[in-house]
Amino acid sequence: MNAGSSEVVIVGGGVVGIATAYFLGLAGVRSTVIERDSVGSHASGFAYGGLTPLSGAGIPGPVYPLAKEGLRLHSEFAKSLPEETGVATEFRLRPSLSLSFTEDEVDEAKGPLAWQQEQDGYRVEWVDAAKAMEIEPRVSEEILGGVYVEGVAEVEPYKFILALTQAAEKMGATVRHGNVNGLRTSGGKVTGVVTETGEIPCGAVVIAIGPWSADASSWTGLDIPIRPLKGQILRLKAPGAPFDCSIGWAGNYANTKMDGLLWTGTTEEEAGFDENPTAAARDQIMASLLKMIPSLLDAELVQHTACLRPLSVDGIPILGPVPGLEGAYIATGAGRKGILLGPGMAKALTDQILKGAADFPIEPFSPARFG
Ligand SMILES: Cc1cc2nc3c(=O)[nH]c(=O)nc-3n(C[C@H](O)[C@H](O)[C@H](O)COP(=O)(O)OP(=O)(O)OC[C@H]3O[C@@H](n4cnc5c(N)ncnc54)[C@H](O)[C@@H]3O)c2cc1C
Repeated sequence: MNAGSSEVVIVGGGVVGIATAYFLGLAGVRSTVIERDSVGSHASGFAYGGLTPLSGAGIPGPVYPLAKEGLRLHSEFAKSLPEETGVATEFRLRPSLSLSFTEDEVDEAKGPLAWQQEQDGYRVEWVDAAKAMEIEPRVSEEILGGVYVEGVAEVEPYKFILALTQAAEKMGATVRHGNVNGLRTSGGKVTGVVTETGEIPCGAVVIAIGPWSADASSWTGLDIPIRPLKGQILRLKAPGAPFDCSIGWAGNYANTKMDGLLWTGTTEEEAGFDENPTAAARDQIMASLLKMIPSLLDAELVQHTACLRPLSVDGIPILGPVPGLEGAYIATGAGRKGILLGPGMAKALTDQILKGAADFPIEPFSPARFG
């Protein structure tokens, strides 16, 4: 596509869709984002906001280049977005301390340690219980040790997507309210997007509808095996001094964010598209928090949120052109890491749309891999 020649429609105003509008705008291509609720109103606005590239699905492995690129882009955004929009995205470097309570957890934590220590830009070390308690004296005395990582970061997801939206709009992107329920095609090419209230013509469409991505299987004729994985987070007024690092254990985390509250989570629930917070999840998160940091028994609940991760059947993103339908692209499946991966996914897809190739390998994420 020639920059500026034809408009791209992006379906979905989550981090992946909005970041795509941003990078298209940067390349001089106008886009329209169609969002049926409001920008950042689902997982992209209510995630924890940890930016930790050294672990997760497909890491080490094909997801690592995307994760590394995600952190690099976030580091640039930390300076550029507040300048461009006046919105402070609350990005900051934030060490993490991941606790192990059993020998099995120690083995699991030490497995990728050598690889993690080889990666540029971080300091990664195994610390015994005494050293862990020097780093954060309030962690449980029951721990056997932990992995301490410097060089990782965090952002406030809602402020980030707000700033990214404003920056994209300044470069010509438009955000429209609408519920997309199909595509218009002609001769094997996309010519428009069909919404409940009419059609929007376009030369290309990016489908970035997160956990709802399977809806687009019927629009594209492509199997898009994505399901929602529910997660919940509590924001607490916690007694004592703020925590200086993110404490983690077995997929749970806790950290004082820049609003002064202790954010803690999470759950992994198969609950369909239900996004309601539940008492059972609240109790589970509190139990995990107290296991990590027993002194927080009297923490006071301020906010409780729930949202859905877009999880692919093989756990890694689905990113690239829809086979057999010219001008249609999918960008989804970031799972537990979409705030980190979203900007990298969006930049790679923008390069794919405009130049026919991304700067790093995205073939492992091909939508064609599901046959
Ligand atoms: C509890 C929790 C904690 C998390 N913590 C972290 C973290 O610490 N770090 C990290 O990197 N990631 C984290 N994540 C993951 C991250 O939030 C997600 O991977 C990411 O937000 C997914 O972004 P998305 O743009 O793909 O989807 P979404 O944010 O879900 O956006 C998709 C959008 O598409 C819209 N839409 C759907 N269908 C249509 C349609 N037919 N027409 C128009 N619009 C439509 C929806 O309304 C929605 O706004 C967390 C997730 C959860 C649930």
